[in-house]
Amino acid sequence: MGGLAPEAKAHHASDPTFCAAQAAGWKFPRSLDERPGREPVQTRFTPDWSNELMMQKESADVVVIGGGVRGLVTAYYLSKAGVDVAVLEKRFVGAGATGLNTGYANVSEKGPRHYTEFSKMSADMYPALNEELGGGIEYERNGSLRIVETQAEWEAQAATVAERNQVPGLSMQMLEIDELRRLEPALASDLRGGSFCPIDGSVNPLKFVRALAQRAAQNGARIHIGCEVADIHVTAGRIEEVVTRQGRLATHVVVNAAGIHVPRIAAMVGLDVPVNAERGQLTITEALPRFMRRPIGPYTQFANGQVLIGVTNENVGENTGVTTAMIASRVRQALRILPVLKQATGIRCTAALRPMPPDRLPIYQKMDAVRDFYVTVGHSGITLAPVTGKVLADLITTGHTDIPLDPYRVERFKPQGATAH
Ligand SMILES: Cc1cc2nc3c(=O)[nH]c(=O)nc-3n(C[C@H](O)[C@H](O)[C@H](O)COP(=O)(O)OP(=O)(O)OC[C@H]3O[C@@H](n4cnc5c(N)ncnc54)[C@H](O)[C@@H]3O)c2cc1C
Repeated sequence: MGGLAPEAKAHHASDPTFCAAQAAGWKFPRSLDERPGREPVQTRFTPDWSNELMMQKESADVVVIGGGVRGLVTAYYLSKAGVDVAVLEKRFVGAGATGLNTGYANVSEKGPRHYTEFSKMSADMYPALNEELGGGIEYERNGSLRIVETQAEWEAQAATVAERNQVPGLSMQMLEIDELRRLEPALASDLRGGSFCPIDGSVNPLKFVRALAQRAAQNGARIHIGCEVADIHVTAGRIEEVVTRQGRLATHVVVNAAGIHVPRIAAMVGLDVPVNAERGQLTITEALPRFMRRPIGPYTQFANGQVLIGVTNENVGENTGVTTAMIASRVRQALRILPVLKQATGIRCTAALRPMPPDRLPIYQKMDAVRDFYVTVGHSGITLAPVTGKVLADLITTGHTDIPLDPYRVERFKPQGATAH
């Protein structure tokens, strides 16, 4: 077997991330050839959609900007309703936060109450969506665990559990470590304990977003990759066309689902929508025999056996670099909680940017100042995918949704927020 190319070996040896994780007691492969020959989960895939935009057809009833989970789930629900929709994605499907995340459909960590309810509504829609998509997205609903190491953490988490349980159907419990180890035998025995939420689930985010794109395309949606939106023309408060680097597309309806670039797209029509980029650094291991049955805090094991060790929350702008200190601290904690990982080999340390409104709640809105301009943005795009698709399709096709959206209006950020209804 050949090893790494000489220049790659040199980089490998001097990479501070590798050194940090090694300091945390971790081995890394001497050669990438030592990795088991399994399909990596988080590898960017080569899309098979056309980037020959436009101009097979030079208009669309609805243009969705952004080929992440929010844009594609919106396109899927719209295409199911028979709407003529085009998705414009400047890079490729899943190129943003969607392509590199933990994949929890997570209700247990979402508060306040209205947000718990909104997240639960979405989580409850997953089984049907999974079936519609024909399976194959690694959807499981085995619950999730949140581990606590100290008594102070136990008390804080117990308070959170009591608050979450005010929403019917969550049935969260605090469990001693022996009880937790009956659910997850790989947990260390000297931990304080933790909480269990039976209704949480998980998916493989890349398989999920690709399935949404494929089904939307089968329903007639056009998905244009490598197609960057540069401007939106508005006349007398009405959208007339979307201008891309590849050409123009006439439309009167736009959904802004551009992730961390939602503010730039909103500015093209004169609106102010505040969204920050929040960095999440993570580490991915080689494929291991299945030892986790469900997500445990920031750790998840995908169906191919790779474990994702997450994650940081950092406000560092549009910077996807990784740092020694952060990676090492997360890996050390993972080794404490799941000692089996000491036998593992890390194969990748990387980072992605969460689109995060200032109060950490999502924004869903049909804006007022510009007719038929919709915004969907925020964290937890995977958890909220089904409800996102339904809400946008309802609003666009009927002008109304029964799902309460008042807490997610942009006016809550006034004076920065734009006029909206
Ligand atoms: C480390 C990490 C872990 C996470 N874990 C979870 C989790 O477990 N559960 C969960 O629910 N959420 C999780 N999230 C959050 C989740 O990944 C995001 O909320 C979600 O992916 C956002 O999807 P999106 O479609 O809004 O944005 P993105 O996926 O970022 O997509 C936006 C797209 O718009 C495109 N775009 C931007 N500008 C233009 C333009 N001018 N023209 C055309 N296209 C453009 C971009 O290329 C991009 O593909 C995590 C995030 C991170 C970083």
